[in-house]
Amino acid sequence: MNFKGLLLGLGAMAVSFSVLAATPKYIFYFIGDGMGMGQAMAGQTYNRVALGNEQPLMMMQFPYGGMIETYSASSTVTDSAAAGTALSTGHKTKNGMLGMDADTVAVTSMAKVLHDAGWGVGLVTTMAPDDATPGAFYAHVPNRNMFYEIGRQAAESGYEFIAGATWRGELDNSGKSRGLHDYIRSKGVDLVTSIEAVDNSKSRRVFLYSESPFTSGDIGYTVDSIPGMLTLPDMTRAAIDHLERVSPDHFFMMVEGGNIDHLGHGNDGGGLAIEVLNFNEAIAQAYNFYLKHPDETVIIVTADHETGGMSVGNRHVGYTSYPQYVPYQAISKDNFSRKVKELLKNQPDMTWDQFKEFTAEKTGLWKQVPIKARQEKKLKEIFDDTFEKRMALADEKTLYSSFNALANEVFNVLNEIQGYGWTTGSHTGNPVPVYAIGDGMEIFGSRMDNTGIAPRLLRLAGLQ
Ligand SMILES: [Zn+2]
Repeated sequence: MNFKGLLLGLGAMAVSFSVLAATPKYIFYFIGDGMGMGQAMAGQTYNRVALGNEQPLMMMQFPYGGMIETYSASSTVTDSAAAGTALSTGHKTKNGMLGMDADTVAVTSMAKVLHDAGWGVGLVTTMAPDDATPGAFYAHVPNRNMFYEIGRQAAESGYEFIAGATWRGELDNSGKSRGLHDYIRSKGVDLVTSIEAVDNSKSRRVFLYSESPFTSGDIGYTVDSIPGMLTLPDMTRAAIDHLERVSPDHFFMMVEGGNIDHLGHGNDGGGLAIEVLNFNEAIAQAYNFYLKHPDETVIIVTADHETGGMSVGNRHVGYTSYPQYVPYQAISKDNFSRKVKELLKNQPDMTWDQFKEFTAEKTGLWKQVPIKARQEKKLKEIFDDTFEKRMALADEKTLYSSFNALANEVFNVLNEIQGYGWTTGSHTGNPVPVYAIGDGMEIFGSRMDNTGIAPRLLRLAGLQ
């Protein structure tokens, strides 16, 4: 074989390799917002110890696992905008920036690359659809709070399906419409508020949303099960059904479990463990699809950053933790705080015994969950200050919430007893896990940076 012949031969080999290499037709990208190793294990210990499930969480049954570092271009501790941009485009940027690099040059999301190549695209979140993580897959703005602009870019994206809670760009500060819903419709999108409407829609493009009762604009926590709100597993199922209808040959989906982050900011360990299981149920929807198309489907599960510096185990419980107390927690810290504020207004002469009864019913404390004398003494002091002396104790403020001081202490006690530890109400620079399944996904079985995922997925799909 002469030199030219050798080159031709090598070229033919390269072609046959690329034909043989697994090329997925369906890519699922799950992002547990704020789901570090501690959060994932909080979900898994709750699943195993409290619920008695011998099978690990779905994501932990996937054959490949690794971890990613999450720092941003401006900080050792990223926010969701910079982290979302890294996960969707493979480029680091500064905290607060979405779909632009640190020099405010627009960078391209892998969802857009796939869409341009003819793939259907669906984005699903428990948060506002114009929030940072979904926004990172279609928007280019220097500031993540430019909701109206982000919403317009969602309408212009051409993507087939976007689901979440309130479009925050719709109303201005005085509650007047800015016309975002109309703009979305003007781009050929069927904007609907129920799963049935998705199933009945004749449009290629459907955006599904649940108007949130909260200023944070999300669908509420699983532990509170707000009546009438969409859930992450249901939205995920609807997204798969819709994409199978309108883009049966190829589709990409990003699914964000955003409430994990908010519960982490609030240091609500029990609520968070329950939320991780809800996220896991959404992953199970994708896994069911994978079982029908195992050679053509890949699923990756990761997080944008860790929130709260959470641990399973804390200084009060030593070499154990007690997730078996979590099922008695029937309310989030956010909702409990709201209820205490209502009690202060509507039932100001409430007695300590009545408060104990109220708290026992919502959290299990004093009933199924044993409380120590030290913990009760401190709670009683704050109760006296709040209800008897009517002292206006300062709220405990976090990024998304303002917790009543008494409610805050109830949840400090709950965390102590359930065995969750926290170091902050912000994000941390801790690494986060990666779980993956599907042909070719062994490339995720190693430590990486958060910029490594999008290019690897695109390469696997033959697009980079
Ligand atoms: Zn956060």
